[in-house]
Amino acid sequence: MLEVKNLFYRGILKDISFRVERGSVVGLAGKNGSGKTTLLKCIGGFLNYSGFVLLDGEDLKKLSSRKRVLKVNYLPQILEISFPYTVFEFLLSSLVPLKGFFPSLADEDIEKVEFYLEKLNIYHLKDRIFSTLSGGERVKVLIARLLLVDPDVYLFDEPGAFLDVEVLPFLAEIVKELKEREKIVIITAHDLNFLLDVADQFVGLKNGKLFFSGGKEEFLENVELLFDTKLRILRSQNEIFIKPYTGGKG
Ligand code: ADP
Repeated sequence: MLEVKNLFYRGILKDISFRVERGSVVGLAGKNGSGKTTLLKCIGGFLNYSGFVLLDGEDLKKLSSRKRVLKVNYLPQILEISFPYTVFEFLLSSLVPLKGFFPSLADEDIEKVEFYLEKLNIYHLKDRIFSTLSGGERVKVLIARLLLVDPDVYLFDEPGAFLDVEVLPFLAEIVKELKEREKIVIITAHDLNFLLDVADQFVGLKNGKLFFSGGKEEFLENVELLFDTKLRILRSQNEIFIKPYTGGKG
């Protein structure tokens, strides 16, 4: 279980607490500027918060950064790397924290990288310099990197932002696989329908405070207040859609 307990960060996050069981996908929702990225960065260990992030009772602050990245890892919204790594070199280097202090990479590591290049449909990008890739291509490489490291807790910050619409179902499939493997996933997305599709638990942030946490129904009850806007919630037999309210029937 992941437990965020009385977490504060500067004036930005104020007393955030919630719990997530293994095998759960949390949709982290809130307006722009509500603190979602900051919260993911705190959980990922990039910011010096006060309070606790506990995984199975263990305080993640007490771990070395090498050990922490193996427990919790993060898909950033934007990554600039200044070294001229190829995609292949970049992915291979992501395996270093798994190797201890004197890493030596073996054939099986190369196979692993090639496996994920194929899985993400980016084998053709293998020898490209990472910094020359498009936003969508970078996101796929970063997802491959995350899967290679395979932490217990996956944090996805707006993974859909740069992806073509046909890639979203594929991403949803990856998240489903992680859930089946008893991972914990926390994901932010502007697309509330994507979030409804993939998440089974929701955390709403408003002005840096926890506005609610709960299941799908709690999310639907709170979503208009969370975003301060009128929405239409459409329910068909197995699916729920959220649409902006336009006044008409459309
Ligand atoms: P969200 O991801 O929900 O859009 P953020 O976590 O990016 O929100 O930002 C939350 C608030 O913190 C915003 O008001 C933002 O301007 C502020 N903020 C983000 N990063 C910094 C920073 N490095 N220094 C100061 N303020 C920041």
